[in-house]
Amino acid sequence: MKDTYRHQGKRQQLVKTVKKKGITDAKVLAAIGKIPRHLFMDSSFEDHAYQDKAFPIAADQTISQPYTVAFQTQLLEVEKGEKVLEIGTGSGYQTAVLCELGAKVYSIERQRELYKKTKSFLQNIGYRPKYLSFGDGYKGLPEYAPFDKIIVTAGAPEVPKDLLGQLKVGGRMVIPVGSDVQTMTLFIRKSAKEFDKTEFGSFRFVPLLEDKN
Ligand code: SAH
Repeated sequence: MKDTYRHQGKRQQLVKTVKKKGITDAKVLAAIGKIPRHLFMDSSFEDHAYQDKAFPIAADQTISQPYTVAFQTQLLEVEKGEKVLEIGTGSGYQTAVLCELGAKVYSIERQRELYKKTKSFLQNIGYRPKYLSFGDGYKGLPEYAPFDKIIVTAGAPEVPKDLLGQLKVGGRMVIPVGSDVQTMTLFIRKSAKEFDKTEFGSFRFVPLLEDKN
C-alpha cells in the first residue's frame, strides 16, 4: 500500500489529461490529483493506473475511466456536507472522490465480493463513507432518503423511478442511460412532480443489473 513520488507524478499527468478533455471544476481535479488510484486496482495493473482508462476489478466489473468519474462528479455539483447516494460502489474510487469533496456518502453495491473488499479497503486507507450497503441499487435507500445528489455508476437500461423519488427538491441525479451505449443524463428535481432533464455525450458502462428476487 505505497504511494510513491512516481505515482504522484503520474497522477499529476492524469489531472492534466482530464483537464485537457474539458474538466474545469477545481475541486474535482484536486480530488483526482490526491487519490491514489493505483491502490483501488489489482496490483497487476499498477503501472497503468494513471492512464485515463477503465480497468477490470473483481467480479467482472470495472473501475470507471477517470475522465468519466470527473465528468459525472462535475455535473453533480457537490457541496460540502451534502448527502450523496452512489449506485455501484465497485472499487470505491468514485466513493473516495465524493468523500474528498466533503459529501456524506451512501453507496450501494450488488456484488457481495466487491462490497466486502471495498468496505475494508476504504477503511484501511482512511476514507469514511457514511454507509456502504450490499443490495440492489435500483431501489435506492428509502430509509436514508431524501438525498441532495444521486450518482449512478453503471449503465441503466431505463431510469429507476425509485431513485428519482429519493431526490430532494432542487437535487441533482447523474445517470448513464441506455443498453449498449449510454447517454449521460442529468435530472434536476424542480418540484414534487417536475424534473428537468439534460443529456450529455455517450459513454460505455457495465450494466446496472436488477435483482430478480
Ligand atoms: N463507481 C465504481 C464503478 C464500478 S462499475 C468505481 O469507481 O469503481 C459499476 C458497479 O455497479 C459494479 O461494481 C456493479 O457490480 C455495480 N452494480 C450493477 N448493478 C447494480 C445494482 N443494481 N445495484 C448496485 N450496484 C450495482
